[in-house]
Amino acid sequence: MPELPEIEIVKRSLLEMILRAKIIHVKIKNKKLRYKVPNFFSKQLKNQKILKIERRSKYLIFHLNKYLLLAHLGMTGKFLIIRSKDSKLYKTSFYYNLNILTKHNHIYFKLNNGLILVYNDVRKFGFFKLIKKNKLNKIIFLKKLGLEPLSNKFNTKYFLNFVEKRKKNIKNLLMDQKFVSGLGNIYVNESLFMSKIHPLRVCNSLKKKEINRLINKIKKILKISISKGGSSIRDFKNTSGQTGSFQQFFKVYGRENEDCSRISCNNRIKKIFISNRSSFYCPKCQK
Ligand SMILES: [Zn+2]
Repeated sequence: MPELPEIEIVKRSLLEMILRAKIIHVKIKNKKLRYKVPNFFSKQLKNQKILKIERRSKYLIFHLNKYLLLAHLGMTGKFLIIRSKDSKLYKTSFYYNLNILTKHNHIYFKLNNGLILVYNDVRKFGFFKLIKKNKLNKIIFLKKLGLEPLSNKFNTKYFLNFVEKRKKNIKNLLMDQKFVSGLGNIYVNESLFMSKIHPLRVCNSLKKKEINRLINKIKKILKISISKGGSSIRDFKNTSGQTGSFQQFFKVYGRENEDCSRISCNNRIKKIFISNRSSFYCPKCQK
């Protein structure tokens, strides 16, 4: 599932390729996404210019002349770009390769800059919503979201206020979208490892020093993974291959039974399930 850094990378790629382009035609191959693509979708998008692209949590918001187009990539959604003149395919994120089956291309947005924006989604859990422009604050999907992890408001004070009387474990707290939005399982695992905090610690038992460290590590990890994607963004106008491998930077996620990556530690990484999500941690380093 794409996590926050990937969506941020997709946003930056799209900004580079399609900002200020006008949608001249929308072809819908398959309406059955997580929510059905409405009948008037193509008509309303025609002649709309892409004025701004924003990310909120794992949502992308395209600001058009009259509308806001909200997009969520679900489990396997991807934006691709096709250059009309030679059908050359470009990806918008280094996370996936280009062995993409066109049968999973569901929507084609033809643009006036010679490019076609394509929405591809194997499992079809992604979706689009078209909303009137002055209704941004009323978008139900965005309303329930907690703070952005990279915003300044996501800080120790906020954490302390939020957890005051809460007894849930820190892993579940960080996964709670009402607390902080867009932090997925991988980044929660990595941040807890980097902060030396056991995933099952009761959240209001954390000391101020630990909270400071945790928040700093969360921001740092997200920024690093966004910047790793940045290098492929620079390439992406002239290449069309390279698969990214941010995975190689994971210190704990997916490393069950491997040696802890801290040189001073000789323990092995354990895997447990917390609320049905796999959690990896070092029993020696994380307390
Ligand atoms: Zn360790």
